[in-house]
Amino acid sequence: MLLQPQRVLRAATPRTFHVWTIGCQMNTAESAAITSALQQRGLTPVGAIDDAELVVLNSCTVRESAEQRVQGTLGNLLHRKDEDPDLKIALTGCSVEPDVEAMARKLPMVDFFFRPGALDHFLAQLEAEEVTGAPLVSNPVMSHSAPVSTYVSVMQGCNKFCTYCIVPYRRGREVSRPIAEVVSDVRMMARRGAKEITLLGQIIDHYGRDLPVRSHLADLMEAVHEVEGLQRLRFMTSHPRDMDQRLIEAIARLPKAVETIHLPVQAGDDTVLRRMRRQYTVERYLNLVAQIRATIPGVAVTTDIIVGFCGETEEQFQRTLDLMDAVQFDVVHVACYSPRHGTVSASWEDDVPQEEKEERRRRLERQQEETQRLINARLQDTVQEILVEDSQSHRQDVPQWRGRTRTNKLVFIPRGDENLVGRLVPARITKTSPWALQGVID
Ligand code: SAH
Ligand code: SF4
Repeated sequence: MLLQPQRVLRAATPRTFHVWTIGCQMNTAESAAITSALQQRGLTPVGAIDDAELVVLNSCTVRESAEQRVQGTLGNLLHRKDEDPDLKIALTGCSVEPDVEAMARKLPMVDFFFRPGALDHFLAQLEAEEVTGAPLVSNPVMSHSAPVSTYVSVMQGCNKFCTYCIVPYRRGREVSRPIAEVVSDVRMMARRGAKEITLLGQIIDHYGRDLPVRSHLADLMEAVHEVEGLQRLRFMTSHPRDMDQRLIEAIARLPKAVETIHLPVQAGDDTVLRRMRRQYTVERYLNLVAQIRATIPGVAVTTDIIVGFCGETEEQFQRTLDLMDAVQFDVVHVACYSPRHGTVSASWEDDVPQEEKEERRRRLERQQEETQRLINARLQDTVQEILVEDSQSHRQDVPQWRGRTRTNKLVFIPRGDENLVGRLVPARITKTSPWALQGVID
């Protein structure tokens, strides 16, 4: 019963595929791995979802807006499949529930389901169904170039269970990849042209605790740091409860480790933080930021904030604005609270009206825009090291190099004849805004 859709479709073998991706950097990293694996098995990637014979939807369900987009895209594909039964659809990412068989019963038109990180399982299904053969070359990731800035996942899952968050239910418990395995991936990415690697984990500060030989993220950073060709090393996401001095010192000490820390605070009020089950207070968070700034000069600190969590009063929201004022974040990602079925807070009253949540989000964004204007203005006339990522038309189709400072600020530089992609160049900042910088090669 369960395998019927695959059997019916086995006759037509897809030659083209498209990986549709939404959500966090973990999904971006996994989609790159899916693309690479499918290419190596002889399938050709196509840019338009409508042209693909196999579509992999890499989904997100962390907020309702993302879930709606996944459902809309899946709905269109199912509609197309009514007319074209040879179309094959695979679903992965956080929309895939642990009970994959129950999902298959609910969505019989979807040919393949695999949980986040279970790429091997998907590839085994494809081979079993004769959709693909084995890899064409022995080293699947060597054959095509990698983006200048690339993500590498170092662990799956999260053990925290913040009351609002669906991630632990969909990505499972924390499982770290051994240091040697991560280093080998980074080495291959660097050989393919990657200059900057961002190591990814939901709570990356927990990295290595579950390994047979217990390791620390600082050990992993040191090992990755040795990879030839690698110029910059980032990591995310840190948890304010778990980031420790050893890690902070490693960032300060390792030349390739850049001065950017993403440290989601979520709220600026202790009662709200307790109800979110974040396991820290505002005071502890502020002390940690002070410790980071004392150890890593010039560090950029970025954060995530949820507004309109169950029971959040105007005064409590105001404390979030006060915390932002005290910290002066380089970037704030803000989201309106969205109850996720199955989480603890989904059973509480979602009592901040949607309009009020959006009003709080706008107020927060206005305040942050001013902060970013001031922070970025301080870079005027300074010389910054830029890693050039690609070429983009920033203003009126004038081609510009697009790159980032060590603190992850976007910089546009007028294009000359020499190809600078993948190069570290010194640039003098000539113009700033809250969102981007303009510079010239110094
Ligand atoms: N591991 C990271 C966050 C992972 S989820 C951490 O601990 O902070 C990414 C972001 O999505 C979160 O930082 C949070 O701001 C947002 N988010 C998660 N669940 C949400 C929900 N139910 N409603 C609104 N935003 C949510
Ligand atoms: Fe979600 Fe909290 Fe885990 Fe982050 S730490 S992934 S917010 S449960």
